[in-house]
Amino acid sequence: RSKRQGRGAITVYSTTIAEDMRRATQLEQTLRNAIINDVIDVHFQPIVRLKDTRLVGFEALARWNDPELGFVSPAVFVPLAEERGFIDTLSEALLRKAAESMLAWPPELFLSFNLSSAQMTDPRTAVNTLAILDSVGVDPYRIELEITETAVMTSPDTARRIIAELRSAGIAIALDDFGTGQSSLGRLRDFIFDKVKIDRAFVSGIDQDRAAAHIVKAVVAMCEGLGLKTVAEGIETPEEGETLRSLGCGMAQGYFFGKPADAAATLAYIKNAGLPRAASWS
Ligand code: C2E
Ligand code: MG
Ligand code: MG
Ligand code: MG
Repeated sequence: RSKRQGRGAITVYSTTIAEDMRRATQLEQTLRNAIINDVIDVHFQPIVRLKDTRLVGFEALARWNDPELGFVSPAVFVPLAEERGFIDTLSEALLRKAAESMLAWPPELFLSFNLSSAQMTDPRTAVNTLAILDSVGVDPYRIELEITETAVMTSPDTARRIIAELRSAGIAIALDDFGTGQSSLGRLRDFIFDKVKIDRAFVSGIDQDRAAAHIVKAVVAMCEGLGLKTVAEGIETPEEGETLRSLGCGMAQGYFFGKPADAAATLAYIKNAGLPRAASWS
């Protein structure tokens, strides 16, 4: 609506900004209430080992279904909670919920949980995370935390300390959305990660995209040399899965293997996956 209309345009524009700000503040209030009333839910998406598609774990993904607003994406409300300074409250509630759901899972399954950038600038993050796992009674060895490169770059020293503390307690650290954003190769040299999650941007259509296949092949080889596990994100077709497997990628996640589902549906998924079962090595 910001048509050029001479002097008036400025007014129209700033009205829109004011409106946006008002709307964000309303959303913030609604989100704060949703957290207090325990309305934000956690869903779980399966992660499989590619060579035999054996289920190995789940990624926890926040879900908010507001009676008036409908489904609000975590890509909207997580950044909002970060900006407004209450991501730790939200994240701790979600981790507690996710950890409690894990108690009903076979012990060999891990849970992968997303930490936000803001949490990587807060020195209390490691202690708080470990305290939640301890109070729920989940072994830190079953937990993996996903961090993006941006999150490490904001305050590298603090992030490094948090990561070291978490890892020494047995938690694995995954670099999320690898291949997007800033150059990531240097970061891997620091040996602060256990796993790399290859972004969906390289996975979509990889069976028909020679360039993407070459890139992923090189990433997988590099990770292997550095002792890092690899997970491909966003596999939607069997062809993509087979291509990733043939390129040596270790694990995969995507709608083809399962969409994020609530705790009850996840238990059913685990039962159908036949866990625990004898390893069916090929
Ligand atoms: P992410 O951590 O990279 O999570 C993967 C996203 O890809 C999820 O979107 C998932 O639903 C989606 N996805 C998985 N498989 C497929 C597929 O085959 N095709 C397509 N098109 N998409 C697929 P979602 O749940 O909307 O989450 C978006 C982002 O929001 C996440 O990206 C993560 O950065 C953030 N997020 C979600 N839950 C949390 C949370 O509890 N805490 C924090 N800090 N961030 C979260
Ligand atoms: Mg993630
Ligand atoms: Mg990701
Ligand atoms: Mg992503």
